[in-house]
Amino acid sequence: MPELPEVETVKNTLKRQVLNKKIELANIYWNNIIAFPQVSDFKRCVQNQKINNILRRGKWLMFELDDYFLLSHLRMEGKYFIRNVGDERNKHEHVIFQFDDNTELRYHDTRKFGKMYLVDKLTAYSVKPLCELGLEPWDENLTVEYLRERLRNKPIKSELLDQSIIVGIGNIYADEILFLSKIHPNRLATKLSDKELSDIIKYTKVTLEKAIELGGTTVKSYTSSEGVHGRFQNELLVHTKASCPICHKDIVKTVIGGRGTYYCPSCQSEH
Ligand SMILES: [Zn+2]
Repeated sequence: MPELPEVETVKNTLKRQVLNKKIELANIYWNNIIAFPQVSDFKRCVQNQKINNILRRGKWLMFELDDYFLLSHLRMEGKYFIRNVGDERNKHEHVIFQFDDNTELRYHDTRKFGKMYLVDKLTAYSVKPLCELGLEPWDENLTVEYLRERLRNKPIKSELLDQSIIVGIGNIYADEILFLSKIHPNRLATKLSDKELSDIIKYTKVTLEKAIELGGTTVKSYTSSEGVHGRFQNELLVHTKASCPICHKDIVKTVIGGRGTYYCPSCQSEH
């Protein structure tokens, strides 16, 4: 599944490819991808809208049109390709935006789990799905006090994955952040000290910035729209590793909240 750094990479790639293009029409071949509004309204509203910018919020790509935000979540397998009008349609290309310059932006999704919303630009942040998202890792409101208010009495690993608290921390990144913060993944979030919460904030930024710089981690089926593969996987310290890069003890693999979790039993003490 593409994580925040991968979505950021896709965003930057698409910005080079589709900025300032005008959508002449949209063809939808799998209606369930359009979550809002109804397909007929979606098709009518995107017509003649220009792509003025592309932003990202959490794992949502936000195409800024003249009057709307087109929000796109890639979920498991979503990808975008640029093709020419008339190029044969791949059977996994479910939504096709035709531009006025004879090119097309095609949304490809073998699993069909991806979702798109077309929301009014003025209210986009106060309606679903964006209103349900927590803070970005770089938001200045992400403070120890904010975390104290929001974290529940659950393992910190699970809380870091909760997108309504902080967006963009996927499973791999949560393990790396906790390793750098020297915090055992099973410790209760409400029992962490101010210093530990502050370390989590610091290393969340460090880890995601580095992952963005390297284009994310390679996930088996994931490619960005230019086929870029992330190099962050070469930099992992604990996730999927056999021994700790600091103390050389064996890394432990366990399951927390249903997710495979790696930690160093010596550097990340349970108490
Ligand atoms: Zn260690």
